[in-house]
Amino acid sequence: MLYTVLTTSRSPGISSGLTYESKDESIKEGTHVSVSLRNQLVEGIVIDVIKKKQSDTFDIKDIAEVLGNKPLLTKPQLQTLQWMSKYYFCSLRQALRVWLPTPSWKNLAPKNELYFKLIDHRLPPKRSFKQTLIVEYLKNIDWASQKELKDMGAEKSTLKTMLTKGRITMEERKVDYKTCKPVIEEPNLTKAQTQAYQLINRSDKPSLLFGITSSGKTEIYAQLISDAVKKGKQAILLVPEILLTEHCIHRFEELIGKEHIAVVHSRLTAGQRRKEWRRIHNGGAHLVIGSRSALFAPVPNLGVVIIDEEHEWTYKNEQTPRYHARETAAKLCEFAKAKLIMGTATPSVESWARAKFGEYQLVNLPERYQNHPLPDVRVVDLTKVNFGKLYPFSPPLLNAIEDRLKKGEQSVLFLNRRGSATSLMCFECRRRIVSPESNLPFTVHKDPQGKPYLLDHTSGIQASVPVECPACKSTNLHAVGAGTQKIEDILSKQFPNARLLRADSDTLTHPEHMRLLLKKMREGHADILLGTQSVVKGLDLPNVTLAAVLIADVGLSLPHFRAGERIFQLLTQLTGRSGRAKPGEVIIQTFRPDSAEVKYAANHQTKEFLNEELKLRLHAGYPPATNMIRLIIREDARTRAIQLVNKIKAISNKDNLELKVSSAPQMFGGGRSWHVLIRGVKPSSVLNKIDLKNVVVDIDPMECV
Ligand code: ADP
Ligand code: ZN
Repeated sequence: MLYTVLTTSRSPGISSGLTYESKDESIKEGTHVSVSLRNQLVEGIVIDVIKKKQSDTFDIKDIAEVLGNKPLLTKPQLQTLQWMSKYYFCSLRQALRVWLPTPSWKNLAPKNELYFKLIDHRLPPKRSFKQTLIVEYLKNIDWASQKELKDMGAEKSTLKTMLTKGRITMEERKVDYKTCKPVIEEPNLTKAQTQAYQLINRSDKPSLLFGITSSGKTEIYAQLISDAVKKGKQAILLVPEILLTEHCIHRFEELIGKEHIAVVHSRLTAGQRRKEWRRIHNGGAHLVIGSRSALFAPVPNLGVVIIDEEHEWTYKNEQTPRYHARETAAKLCEFAKAKLIMGTATPSVESWARAKFGEYQLVNLPERYQNHPLPDVRVVDLTKVNFGKLYPFSPPLLNAIEDRLKKGEQSVLFLNRRGSATSLMCFECRRRIVSPESNLPFTVHKDPQGKPYLLDHTSGIQASVPVECPACKSTNLHAVGAGTQKIEDILSKQFPNARLLRADSDTLTHPEHMRLLLKKMREGHADILLGTQSVVKGLDLPNVTLAAVLIADVGLSLPHFRAGERIFQLLTQLTGRSGRAKPGEVIIQTFRPDSAEVKYAANHQTKEFLNEELKLRLHAGYPPATNMIRLIIREDARTRAIQLVNKIKAISNKDNLELKVSSAPQMFGGGRSWHVLIRGVKPSSVLNKIDLKNVVVDIDPMECV
């Protein structure tokens, strides 16, 4: 029998596997083997079983050894891996990286565990407190595992001493990962939730669960997880950021018990990761919760994948393999015959289109649990406000904050990340002054004499501040944008007694910090939380009755077709954050009160926004109406980008592919790298016809400026 084996060797040219032979016809796909490669034994994984020997294959070496009986990956997992390699244009080995821990894979086999038993029941000499502890513990039980003893404070060295002194005895046993079946506390769904759940249950298609904030999506997830577990299958729940998901994790611990859940996140050490991998692989976890990479958890029998907040950008991996968890989950579920549910209050335009065109089943959950009303949203036109020194605080916003302080309620103030860069804006036509080189807004800086000038960070070109707007000739130009530091200063001057928390990239170097800030808010140790993007996520604070966005449309004039969608999502998420327990209010301050994203978000009209946005995309030929590929070039970037554009255009013309091709210096990183964007019905058809040496291929890019 012939087998395709993907080895751990890094040599180029064999990253898609090599053929080996074995008389053993029972080797399954996914099996861990050792093979000889250039006179060395290397580890590998069987990715394919080739039944028939081709006549022209010769000099095929034998598989040296089968290293484990249990395949490292299941068939559906291998099929997904192969799909990833093809779709995301990467080698099988690159795709494999996300599925298995770094080699060697030898210690992925189930481990043995040590057990101890007391033989000398006399108490040890008085001085040895540690030994006494162990004797006391073991006195009343038969055998105790090392883990058990470690949990109660026993050290390895103490155990060793007691062993040599003959006080205890030791035995090695195979770890039994299959713990008892979880006892499930079934959720109590409302009528609307039950209907949604039944729709999901009946359909063979992936379901898009479109439920507004606080509609109880988590309860439906709980029911679906419970169903899978009862059938002896495993569930995977993907969340955008694991550290901000505590309340959600608690909910599932209640549901099936902590010991049946594996929480995988980026802070696990390599050792902990392996340990969890082993446990999951051997059926020791019924539910895996984690960020995008948890999709690759080695569950033996996948029953359901749930993607919470499916619209979040963190589901796209920005390193090779540059997969999107949503697309990849759809494939995995298809191969594994598992259910896929994507939940969100603000569907991505991509998913919305798929639901419209029948690829996904759309499941609506339009009301909040117990019909809590949605907060009132007030829109403040920033071009009409006389700020004085208080920019960007409008009088209505200041009044609203003061009112909350008086009532002992909390406020959350949100600033778009890019709001901290100051740009020059025309209050007449509401456009930003952009650099002719990169088409991105200039940033306003001050020279040593305090005189303002404009700088384009991507190309480095400078310009003086114009007297009039290049677009409409108005002289009503203003520098806009303010960092959180400046805003904090204004707040502490205006409200000297308010307890203020700031959450931005300066104060949050780790998601853990965000968790602590939220804890402080929840426990009532602060009045105002001021922060960037991350403030919006996972915010579930009962005493927040005011949520405000300081400058909503910073970023709107970016030449990025997803800018509007992103702002809409942020605003809608924010409106869901206020008044979870008490009636709440939302204030949106904006330079463009009439833009679709602001208007629809203010009126809680998500469907209307999505339909309009989709129409725009179809009209302009952007995803999901077309497909897009980004090529990232870092060496000799400008020249090669231009060459590639010309070459792709020529191929497109010759083959009638009707591709749109453009190139631009990358927005961040000093313009050293360049991007080439290709869009059309099938842009991938050019990839095999161009020279991609040292070029990174990004299929379905999220960042595309
Ligand atoms: P979503 O995820 O849709 O924003 P959640 O699942 O967090 O909403 O639900 C919002 C709140 O309502 C939570 O506090 C949750 O406990 C409560 N809730 C929702 N559905 C139910 C239910 N069927 N039974 C009890 N509480 C519920
Ligand atoms: Zn203008």
